Amino acid sequence: MDTVIAKIDPSKPDPEMIGRAGEIIRSGGLVAFPTETVYGLGGDALSENSSRAIYAAKGRPSDNPLIVHIADLESLGRIVVSVPDAAYALAEKFWPGPLTMIMNKSDEVPYATTGGLDTVAVRFPSDPVAQAFIRAAGGYVAAPSANLSGKPSPTSGKYVVEDMDGRIDMILYGDDSVIGLESTIVDLTGDSPVILRPGYITLEMLKTVLPDVSVDTALLADDDRTPPKAPGMKYRHYAPKGDLVIVEGGRDAVISYISEKLSADRSAGKRCGVIASTQTAPSYHADVVLDMGDASDHDEIARRLFGLLRQMDENNVDSIYSEAVSGEGVAAAIMNRLLKAAGHNRIVLGIDDK
Ligand code: AMP
Ligand code: MG
Repeated sequence: MDTVIAKIDPSKPDPEMIGRAGEIIRSGGLVAFPTETVYGLGGDALSENSSRAIYAAKGRPSDNPLIVHIADLESLGRIVVSVPDAAYALAEKFWPGPLTMIMNKSDEVPYATTGGLDTVAVRFPSDPVAQAFIRAAGGYVAAPSANLSGKPSPTSGKYVVEDMDGRIDMILYGDDSVIGLESTIVDLTGDSPVILRPGYITLEMLKTVLPDVSVDTALLADDDRTPPKAPGMKYRHYAPKGDLVIVEGGRDAVISYISEKLSADRSAGKRCGVIASTQTAPSYHADVVLDMGDASDHDEIARRLFGLLRQMDENNVDSIYSEAVSGEGVAAAIMNRLLKAAGHNRIVLGIDDK
């Protein structure tokens, strides 16, 4: 299949291009598009065949449900049984934005879109290109991240081209994603709201609207064995080709631990990579040292993370050491993605004695 790669200026998206992308969706095709979180791989959310095509293009297991993207709050009514008060409250504060809410689905949403579930995940993105595209597409775009299954979510058009060229009809190639991590997912179908996936909208932020919100126990467990409530979360996410270890602790302890490992690995003839903060990166001697950003700037680290993991694969390293990120909020979302990529392979050292 020939994929149209359409560069798009986010400050003034070409209406003709957006119209063409929308037409592709309405006639059953697939279009990748930028959002503020990561790039999405879109199809008509209300069409069974389109959802099937999304799974095929990604190589994704079909019991891993898709998120339905809308471009105005009024669209919500058609795809859910009823809109809970909590959803209105959250929407008022966080929509459009990087928050996905799970509600009971209406009959309009095919089971192919929800991975067989009676619930549907919905997001109203803030990215202007995404909004214009969703409107042109008829208002309901099912979209997982636009990566091949097993690769990190794409935060730049070039990664979408890498994974999807030849597999879908069109790529709307805009700017790099400003957030860089997938949306926060909150489940509103139970007795009290539960966070199923951490993201840029943090627990603390959600608590300001819903004081009784809690975090899914599987997210708190430091292993891969506790079954998660969100079906898709059971799949090991992206794992780099090299062995990834997350090293946590005081700054000096982390530097000396990683440095020792690097010299051992390198004498064993391995190619090594390190993901470190701007402050500590110069301390390491490895084949590839990637700067994750300023240690205190979690937004920057979030933006860069998935790109860095892809770069490690491009560099064919055998072992990768990544510094941990400490703190709550976005730091917790970053650690969630890092630990998943590492298969929970984490070393916890003491804090430095000074
Ligand atoms: P993404 O990987 O960004 O496409 O997000 C899709 C993820 O959203 C899935 O892997 C699930 O974890 C979650 N999700 C989507 N729909 C539902 C749902 N109805 N119930 C629970 N989790 C869902
Ligand atoms: Mg994904």
